[in-house]
Amino acid sequence: MSVEMSKPVPRPGILDIAAYVPGKEHAPGVARVYKLSSNETPLGASPKAIEAFREAAGHLERYPDGQAIELREAIAAVHGLNPANIMCGNGSDELLGLLCHVYLSPGDEGIITEHGFLVYKIQIMGAGATPVVVKETDHTVDVDAILAAVTDKTKIVFIANPGNPTGTYIPVSEVRRLQAGLPKHVVLVLDAAYAEYVRRNDYESGIEVVSSNANVVMTRTFSKVYGLAALRVGWIYAPAEIIDALNRVRGPFNMNTPAIAAGAAAIRDQAFVQEATSFNQMWIEKVTGALETIGLKVTPSVTNFVLIHFPDVDGKRAADADDFLTSRGYILRAVRSYGFPNSLRMSIGPEEANRGVIEALGEFMGRPA
Ligand SMILES: *Cc1c(COP(=O)(O)O)cnc(C)c1O
Repeated sequence: MSVEMSKPVPRPGILDIAAYVPGKEHAPGVARVYKLSSNETPLGASPKAIEAFREAAGHLERYPDGQAIELREAIAAVHGLNPANIMCGNGSDELLGLLCHVYLSPGDEGIITEHGFLVYKIQIMGAGATPVVVKETDHTVDVDAILAAVTDKTKIVFIANPGNPTGTYIPVSEVRRLQAGLPKHVVLVLDAAYAEYVRRNDYESGIEVVSSNANVVMTRTFSKVYGLAALRVGWIYAPAEIIDALNRVRGPFNMNTPAIAAGAAAIRDQAFVQEATSFNQMWIEKVTGALETIGLKVTPSVTNFVLIHFPDVDGKRAADADDFLTSRGYILRAVRSYGFPNSLRMSIGPEEANRGVIEALGEFMGRPA
């Protein structure tokens, strides 16, 4: 194909990708704004992580450690893993992209679920492959639907467990059933971005499933409970052969020094994580209960956010609620692009924001909480 073009032309499929649109940040004209649209923690980062970040500022002329050894060893120590099976990334987003880059060719298929994280679709298409979307049941990943969608072109399956924006999860027994039903050459990606928040006995982030299978990987992030979203720190736990393949294509210095230092300090401070998850647990229950009392439907969540469903009634739809809340300084996430045209996702924020949203939605619904 040596047809001459008048300008550079992207690979087929690239211009079909709808670029990711992050959560809103601004509420014009409102003095006090609470951003509850990106599942960020209201508690910030561990003071120890902030201190490590500051110290790293003293030597910005040096290249980072291309192996991110300090961070990988800290992660390995906390989770009881072999550091050789861990690779770090510039946010887990980078790792999701590398997986597609390495395991997908044009013509291949990647399976994602109806309300799955949009980054999966973007990265599958970015690799020239075809996203195959399967239905969820009750806003929850449906293992049978995934298995039914497998073809001889399937090379990768992405699930977020727990899911975003749904906040639901599948138990480890279901994850194992999914693995057992997939062909051995299909990579099963378990995105456990919210694992720290889950308090369910039948949940497992993926560590055990990865350890006992050659085709399963787990991705994790420091952007949520660890409060380091600005630094872009993620990691993957995977079989040695997968780590080896990913290591060949990643940027040689994909992790910057302040991110490595702050990440390592953050994960060593598990007391801070305990505090953050306890705070979250209390508020996820209070917010869910209060919104139900107001008359709104809420998908039961094991994470740090809730998916709120609005009545299909003029003036009471999600878009109306979004405007109403924004005018009061509460920014939630519209989730139309995730297949929820009449819902909003609310991240658990500081106490005054949680109370404020409950009060405002009570007023909006005409049923004070
Ligand atoms: C927030 C989030 C991530 C984290 O992405 P980073 O690139 O690590 O910030 C990954 N997956 C899901 C489902 C998320 O919601």
